[in-house]
Amino acid sequence: MMHDDGLPPLRDVVQKYELAARKSLGQNFLFDLNLTGRIARACGPLDGVTIVEIGPGPGGLTRALLMEGAKQVIAVERDERCLDALAEIAQAYPGRLKIVAGDALTTDWRALVADVQGPVRICANLPYNIGTALLVGWLESDPWPPWYERMVLMFQREVAERIVATPAQRVDYGRLGVLAGWRATSRILFDVPPTAFNPPPKVTSSVVELTPRAEPLACNGRILTAVTASAFNQRRKMLRQSLKGLSVNGKTIDALALLNAAGITETKRAEEVDVAGFVALARLADDMTR
Ligand code: SAM
Repeated sequence: MMHDDGLPPLRDVVQKYELAARKSLGQNFLFDLNLTGRIARACGPLDGVTIVEIGPGPGGLTRALLMEGAKQVIAVERDERCLDALAEIAQAYPGRLKIVAGDALTTDWRALVADVQGPVRICANLPYNIGTALLVGWLESDPWPPWYERMVLMFQREVAERIVATPAQRVDYGRLGVLAGWRATSRILFDVPPTAFNPPPKVTSSVVELTPRAEPLACNGRILTAVTASAFNQRRKMLRQSLKGLSVNGKTIDALALLNAAGITETKRAEEVDVAGFVALARLADDMTR
């Protein structure tokens, strides 16, 4: 039986195009169009909106985004086996689905959306093995504000918790939480159980919404990354120890002087310092090494 969009059920698509899931490509497909509809609706009203989707696979989420009214979906897929299945969807939605055969890790996002009129949002059930790397790249976008106005992304629950973490959730709070907190506001929207995927992964997943801050606290992202890497790489140690050896602008930082200048007690640990604290450290580290 066909679905509301006149296209065959996803199970049939996978069978027809012989899309046996590949672990190396993080392939855990969603077949339930109610669930993909819920993810698509989490992107907000889609009238006039272009969605960049990473890893459309057999097209479950792609179809939901189009059915929910996205003006256009630009879908980047690395697995060439999926391209014929996606072409069928493109045919059902003339002019609204652009399929890009390529690797999301090396995609030039600004060039991809250079001709797009109107707002762009990112929506994806991300391949779990590259999800964090893609998110870090989008959060480190330069110039800022970035090319997208919202992201709705599926991660493993454990990664989702690290994205939204603050010092209040000590175990989860780390480099990812600082970067996400600096440039965006984020929240977990809902969980998705392993049984929703084909094949089912071992862990629960979560859909996360990230909205870029219009004016993040001013600081050099590269230096912020260096400071958080140094601080969290030895997260059990006090900052006076973990920041020893930190190098910024080619010069080694005096950790005690840096902490004193930022007004941060030297015996604190990385997980006790909030985003504003790390931004202050990054700015002062920059000033002290010029
Ligand atoms: N969106 C589909 C769904 O929800 O059923 C598939 C999601 S599956 C978790 C991840 C998808 O990302 C797969 O289709 C996989 O082939 C694709 N993928 C994996 N690595 C990729 C990469 N580097 N660039 C683009 N797509 C990639």
